[in-house]
Amino acid sequence: MRFVARQPKEGINVSDTHPLVEAGTLVVGLTAIFVIIAVVLIFMVEVVLYFVSAEDEAKLFDGWLPEDLVTVSYTDERLLETQALVDRLVLHWPDAPYEFRVEIDDSEQANAMALPGGLVIVTQGLLDEVESENELAFVLGHELGHFKNRDHVRALGRGVVLSIFFAALTGNDVAGIGIKSADLTLRSFSRRQEARADDFGLQVVNSEYGHVNEAWHLFERWGGKDDSIIDLVKYLSTHPDSGDRAATMKRHAEEKGWQSDGEITPLSW
Ligand SMILES: [Zn+2]
Repeated sequence: MRFVARQPKEGINVSDTHPLVEAGTLVVGLTAIFVIIAVVLIFMVEVVLYFVSAEDEAKLFDGWLPEDLVTVSYTDERLLETQALVDRLVLHWPDAPYEFRVEIDDSEQANAMALPGGLVIVTQGLLDEVESENELAFVLGHELGHFKNRDHVRALGRGVVLSIFFAALTGNDVAGIGIKSADLTLRSFSRRQEARADDFGLQVVNSEYGHVNEAWHLFERWGGKDDSIIDLVKYLSTHPDSGDRAATMKRHAEEKGWQSDGEITPLSW
């Protein structure tokens, strides 16, 4: 039998499916894969939390700093005083498994963060905004609440997932996970975690000063001030609405019977 070479039929390499449908399938497929990876990673963080105690975490992250954090001099007066305030507040959490370290991030955006190993970061912007020690103590107490509930580790896990996702989208390398993921950690705290951290922050402030006067004053100011809108929006993207938050705290303090008037402690700066 003689072999007769024939031309292949036209279009055998062309799919019958419409290109848009194929593109859609690809996007849906990739999204599904990402969602699965994200869920698995978040689940793994829960497993890690179960097996790695806060004490182990403190040891593991001893002396750790995010690479892209721009810190101030270790003799900075506001740094020393904020550290001293954290040390005093922690006395009201006797079995705290962390040795809390404070660092000031040289950023104008008012914010505070809880990072693994007991690292508390406050921004220059926040220290510029607070008008009394009581206001600052509440923000710090709130961060201590995140450590107590270990929200910071959960959120960091989510931050890493999001960094990988952004890296996949933008092609940037993932090696520089530092303050960017730290920033994302706050964004991914849920409202419920925020409310619990607020409750703890108030409790700490009440123990320290014997009242909760001015504890949420910062949020009242932010809730009603138009010229702080940029800061406000930035802050709101990571934390609950300032107005709601102040009202919720007021209610919580009333329920607990915490005194809402009392002497305000001024800041030294
Ligand atoms: Zn928070």
